[in-house]
Formats: sequence, C-alpha cells, structure tokens
Amino acid sequence: VVTKDQVNAWRSLVPTLASLPAAPKRIVLHWTGGGSSANATDKAHYHFIVNQDGTIVKGVWPVGSNMRRVNGTSYAQHTGGFNSFSIGVSFAGMNSPATVLTERQVMTGLAFVALLCVTYKLDPTNTAQLFTHMEAWTLHKVKGTQNDTKSDIDRLKFRPELGKADVGPWLRKQTSALAAEIRGLL
Ligand SMILES: [Zn+2]
Repeated sequence: VVTKDQVNAWRSLVPTLASLPAAPKRIVLHWTGGGSSANATDKAHYHFIVNQDGTIVKGVWPVGSNMRRVNGTSYAQHTGGFNSFSIGVSFAGMNSPATVLTERQVMTGLAFVALLCVTYKLDPTNTAQLFTHMEAWTLHKVKGTQNDTKSDIDRLKFRPELGKADVGPWLRKQTSALAAEIRGLL
C-alpha cells in the first residue's frame, strides 16, 4: 500500500517532465550485485537505487543526463546500448545469500518506479517502456557490451513459483497496480 506522505517525499527526488531535456522512453530494472545498500559503484551506474530497507537513494547522474543520445561518460551507464533516454533503477543486493532482494524492498521500489511511470507518462504494462536488464537481451535483442550475460532480474526469492521468463511480466503487473494507486493519490 502506498501512502500520500511516501509519494510526496519521493516526488522531491524525481525531476518534473518539463525540466528534462527530453522525455524518458523507458525504465530498466536491475539488481546491483552488491550489498544491501547503495555503494559508490552503484551510485555511479544507476539513477536510483532501492536499498534493502526500502530507502530510495539518488545516483551521481541525474535522470536528465541520459535524456539525449548519450556519448562520452557523463551519464548513468546501466544498460549497454540502451542508455539513451533510459532511466536505470536498481535494487541493492544479490552479492550473497544475505543480500537477496526482499519483498518489502521490491514492492517499495516498484511503487517508486510506478511514480516514475506516472510522472513521465510511461506505461508500466508496455514491455518497451518497463523491462529488466535481462529483457534488454531476451525481449529486445539489444546486446550492448554484455546484456546477453545479465540475469537481473530473473528470480525473486519471495516468489519462488516465478520462472526466469515470468519475473519481468510479474514486475510490470505489480507496477501497473501501484501506478493506479498513485494516480489516485496525486
Ligand atoms: Zn543490470
């Protein structure tokens, strides 16, 4: 359940659509491969990191740094070949059994992703507008430097019934429901 206070607090982290050089075309979901909270490497590669306690951390590069045909290094490099006009959101964890993504973390993070979708008029049920790093390759065939080797996000310990190909659709479905809740609060 998303609260109005929570959404209002998050809105201070999210630039308005009008303030960006161009509209975001998609959001790519990741796990960090690191510990339970954002470290310097995580912050350098993602616009937002969802810590295991549900805190949303801003990365070094603002969303606007990717809202162009990117070149050089001054932007969040999160999905090779797919960084232009893309927002990268990552769940902190997966470097050990102790930092497996938790249900609270994922659901809180997806509510934040839902706010991004509402803010930027992205459809969370559209596989071109919200997908996982793994799906950059499995759905979209954008290989980049190593997208074909990435497994984020192909499993959720708290939803063991979901197979590799089921996780992306499940994440989109949850985000869509959360976006409807958020639209009702704004
Ligand atoms: Zn990734």
